[in-house]
Amino acid sequence: MSAAAGSSSRRLESKVALVTGGAAGIGEAIVRLFREQGAKVCIADIQDEAGQKIRDSLGGDQYVLFVHCDVSVEEDVSRAVDATAEKFGTLDIMVNNAGITGQKVTDIRNVDFVEVRKVIDINLLGVFHGIKHAARIMIPNKKGSIISLASVASAIGGMGPHSYTASKHAVVGLTKSVAAELGKHGIRVNCVSPYAVPTDLSMPHLPQGERKDDALKDFLAFVGGEANLKGVDLLPKDIAQAVLYLASDEARYVSALNLMVDGGFTSVNLNLRPFDD
Ligand code: NAD
Repeated sequence: MSAAAGSSSRRLESKVALVTGGAAGIGEAIVRLFREQGAKVCIADIQDEAGQKIRDSLGGDQYVLFVHCDVSVEEDVSRAVDATAEKFGTLDIMVNNAGITGQKVTDIRNVDFVEVRKVIDINLLGVFHGIKHAARIMIPNKKGSIISLASVASAIGGMGPHSYTASKHAVVGLTKSVAAELGKHGIRVNCVSPYAVPTDLSMPHLPQGERKDDALKDFLAFVGGEANLKGVDLLPKDIAQAVLYLASDEARYVSALNLMVDGGFTSVNLNLRPFDD
């Protein structure tokens, strides 16, 4: 295949994207895949050094911009959106990926509302800020794709702290509500809900009893054991592929969807062992 043919088949050729929380984990995988597929990308994150390293590894600020941004602060998000549009000319794709789990508290009577507010400020208001300021650029353009990271905790309980589950359910509600408003402007609004992916966010939550020698191997063995779909390790790149689909023109009629990337985990219940021999 010639270089010209190769580049024209890239799925995000000449698109501009902003990825919050793009300096690590799932966000980093999204940034790298988007770049591979031809997009110019802004990484908006609180981790300056890690974000700048990724920028430099992807060809520098001709293709990738790093902006220090705390998504819980509206002015930070507004500034990141403006910097992206100024540098690359527009904003086609907004990925609201930054998120935290918060402290694991299992007893509702001991819930600390300082902690709850922190989780809601980042996981819900952070997404709200991202959607609001992306829409400001996208509405006059009459096009755009907004994708937010929810979780299996957006559909069922018992997958994380109460505030995390509440925030992720709210991301789905917000996605549907804004999709209802922005459809008339040609803007699609969706979210993606992963099952457990090995990252700095999830790996510390591996139960003590499951820790043996290799953190990644132990994590994959544990979540694989609980998974519905066997024989496949869910990795950050799998989530990036789902986000890429929603960002690309291949999903041009898909909006208000919560795309579960969970191997069926939230749709089946095998507790009664109906398929055991
Ligand atoms: P991670 O901790 O590996 O990376 C998160 C990134 O977001 C980091 O670079 C961090 O610096 C950044 N970040 C944190 N707070 C921020 C803030 N206030 N402003 C800007 N950036 C901030 O996490 P991850 O596992 O890659 O998670 C990414 C998203 O996917 C989150 O929304 C998370 O809830 C969701 N998710 C993760 C999993 C999983 O198992 N890893 C499962 C379901 C959903």
